[in-house]
Amino acid sequence: MLSWKDIPMGAIVQTPGSAKEYRTGDWRSQRPVWDLSKCIKCGLCYIYCPDASIGWKDDGYPQWDEFHCKGCGICATECWTKAINLVEETE
Ligand code: SF4
Ligand code: SF4
Repeated sequence: MLSWKDIPMGAIVQTPGSAKEYRTGDWRSQRPVWDLSKCIKCGLCYIYCPDASIGWKDDGYPQWDEFHCKGCGICATECWTKAINLVEETE
């Protein structure tokens, strides 16, 4: 029988600057979906995302980082043109 000492530690950052390697998006139950026809490239979603999961495409539209987004929905709440909707995560 294993004791707690035999189980490898999880959810720790062992190497400085390596937190990006943890795919925290795996916890997500919902995901944001963009309707770029409504996006005016204002950048509010980028500013408000607490996980820095929104960047920019070359054409100036938001670029979503599916590996780190936790599905909090703040971007959808703050987008004043309603270009972002949350949908159930199925993948
Ligand atoms: S907040 Fe909405 S309108 Fe502004 S850049 Fe993000 S998706 Fe586009
Ligand atoms: S749902 Fe939350 S974590 Fe994901 S992109 Fe929007 S604000 Fe960022």
